[in-house]
Amino acid sequence: MSRIKAKDTKPEMLVRKFLFSHGFRYRIHVNYLIGKPDIVLAKYKAVIFIHGCFWHAHEGCKYYVVPKSNTEFWINKLRNNTQRDAENFSKLAASGWKIITIFECELKAEKLKQTLNNLLVELH
Ligand SMILES: [Zn+2]
Repeated sequence: MSRIKAKDTKPEMLVRKFLFSHGFRYRIHVNYLIGKPDIVLAKYKAVIFIHGCFWHAHEGCKYYVVPKSNTEFWINKLRNNTQRDAENFSKLAASGWKIITIFECELKAEKLKQTLNNLLVELH
């Protein structure tokens, strides 16, 4: 498993296409903001993070399974990731940003429509 974050990954593209088709304009991979949000909607003061279920330890998700070997290493690593997420989110929130997190499992075909509808509600 590579730690390198692929740009323009498919789940992210689904969200971007949807937003664009609904008239939203955004910036992507914004380096100057804490945590480098995947999508930034400055007009709405909103940032969107699209999180892989494994790397961000999506609780209760079938895609979040701690490996059977080096278990302790993985638990620590993933705990660090979620702690960093929490710190980043509280800093962004303190600066007035609305934070929307979408997990990749929520962009699978069976959940996609619901997830995107919820996103519209959150942005209005
Ligand atoms: Zn998940």
